[in-house]
Amino acid sequence: MVFAPKFLLSSVTEITPEFLQKYRICGLLLDLDNTLTTHNNPVPAEGVLDWIARMKRAGIRLMIVSNNSRVRVKPFSELLGIDFVPRGMKPMTFGFTKAMKRMGLTKRDTAVVGDQLFTDILGANIKGIRTIYVFPIQEEDGPFFRLKRKLEKPVLKGRAMTKTTGKEAEL
Ligand SMILES: [Mg+2]
Repeated sequence: MVFAPKFLLSSVTEITPEFLQKYRICGLLLDLDNTLTTHNNPVPAEGVLDWIARMKRAGIRLMIVSNNSRVRVKPFSELLGIDFVPRGMKPMTFGFTKAMKRMGLTKRDTAVVGDQLFTDILGANIKGIRTIYVFPIQEEDGPFFRLKRKLEKPVLKGRAMTKTTGKEAEL
């Protein structure tokens, strides 16, 4: 299924170096909004800075690929000390391609991490990159987001148990 993620976790901080090594994932393409913090929040979510440090210590290459603007993405990426691709236009795939090229990785040793099935996960599936879906940090306002989240539900149904257990789920 083109919208279905390969793995589901409750948040990015659940991703461990051991998990990535097991699946031979050397680099992560990270979504920003509602994945690393809430929308347009300059402060990383709880545990994110420690998690980034842990990933770096393990030699995992990291890159933010966001659909948001440079003005939003640059200061946040700098705070985390990682490179970034703004205006990724996910589900289009050129942002992912650019990011992997910069990291010196291919789709076989990379995974995309994000909170939206119709942008992050769809784009990665089109490109053939493995996906780690993380539940959005905060529920969004507005009819557009409500509709998107409603449409996501059937895809995630039956897999949502991982939200509470935090266990990895291979689909
Ligand atoms: Mg997002």
